Amino acid sequence: MYEINETHDPNLKSWVESANDPSTDFPIQNLPFCVYEFGDTEPVLGIGFIIGDKILDIYGCINDELMQNEAIAQFASFRFWTLNAIAGFAPGVLSDLRRQAVYLLSEKNKDRVAIAEHLYSISDVRFEAAFKTGDYTDFYCSIYHATNVGSMFRPDNPLMPNYKYIPIGYHGRASSIVVSGTDIKRPHGQNRSDAEKPPVFIPCKNLDYEMELGFFVGKGNEMGQPILMSEAENHIFGVCLVNDFLAKNFATTISPYVVTMEALAPFRTKAFERDTDDPQPLGYLNDEGNKNFGGLDINLEVYIQSEKMRNENIEPHLLSRSNTKDLYWTIGQMLTHHASGGCNLQTGDLMATGTVSGKEKHERGCLLELTWRGTEPLELPSGEQRRFLEDGDEIIMKGFCEREGFRRIGLGECRGRILPAD
Ligand code: MN
Repeated sequence: MYEINETHDPNLKSWVESANDPSTDFPIQNLPFCVYEFGDTEPVLGIGFIIGDKILDIYGCINDELMQNEAIAQFASFRFWTLNAIAGFAPGVLSDLRRQAVYLLSEKNKDRVAIAEHLYSISDVRFEAAFKTGDYTDFYCSIYHATNVGSMFRPDNPLMPNYKYIPIGYHGRASSIVVSGTDIKRPHGQNRSDAEKPPVFIPCKNLDYEMELGFFVGKGNEMGQPILMSEAENHIFGVCLVNDFLAKNFATTISPYVVTMEALAPFRTKAFERDTDDPQPLGYLNDEGNKNFGGLDINLEVYIQSEKMRNENIEPHLLSRSNTKDLYWTIGQMLTHHASGGCNLQTGDLMATGTVSGKEKHERGCLLELTWRGTEPLELPSGEQRRFLEDGDEIIMKGFCEREGFRRIGLGECRGRILPAD
């Protein structure tokens, strides 16, 4: 696990002024990675660090010897990148890159002209998915979400008997991962509202979002070689926001910014504290480091803006606020369990936590829970009601970390708007 070091110093400021705005998600202490496309006639792809409202082009800095990194330099001749090219390097290599970027962008550095040539404005680029993802696994790690959903469908037995022993997951579709801002077309599915008749194939009626945290595999493991709990975090590159649109396989939206595990070091917290009558995790999922620091204190917010709200210039409306520290399983436990049978994880694989809900009603991370399967509709500031998503609705997810004595950092936004079915 990463230590807190001089790159987390809350007093650090950048000569990129927008990074010093107290409300920015991207101060110099954060520096998330991104993959972006720049230019219209002959667009080029780049990998960068986000700083304020700018992107520092890593390829350009290495090529001009503003940054030195042997491991990464050998990839620098390839302009068409994803983060897969570098994410498999040891944590030390990536830490070194972060230190150099902090040095270049710090206000103490007066040698700025050459660096400024490698800065792009966020508004001038198009973001791509940061990784080429081969496999996507979605877990179900919020005990509050699992209990709520379970009690709607199985009132007598809401939580499955294995829930407290195993981080449950399903294998999602990597092919339908899209980057924030991509429109989502309402899917079709079978619907049987009349038990006397066969089902009909119609546009989905109960379309929902799921507020989740995603994390990317950095270094993979050999097939047949499990990952020890104590090693788990060495295989996790960083996190993003995930909106897993139901029903499960047609669209998963991710934010384009990958906040590294090192940037998150000040926001680690203990793993979920289990009730005294709950079982402790089995040995392979139990480790002192994980127990004390395996959790993540990341606030997650979901907003909705309907078409009517957009037309009437009404700001997006907050639907819920939850926190990843309420997850029953840590991301390290998810990863270790995933590989425990010898499954070989690969650089760029995406894992998501499942809907992050808390104990309270305003902490429920999907409409299924918030409206209790549509029985308790929500009021929007436009006077509209919502049971599930309507055409034209835009869901906006945000994430941020705050802790006394440290600079606030954010995960940016993850947006998706619903288009009518064909
Ligand atoms: Mn999900």
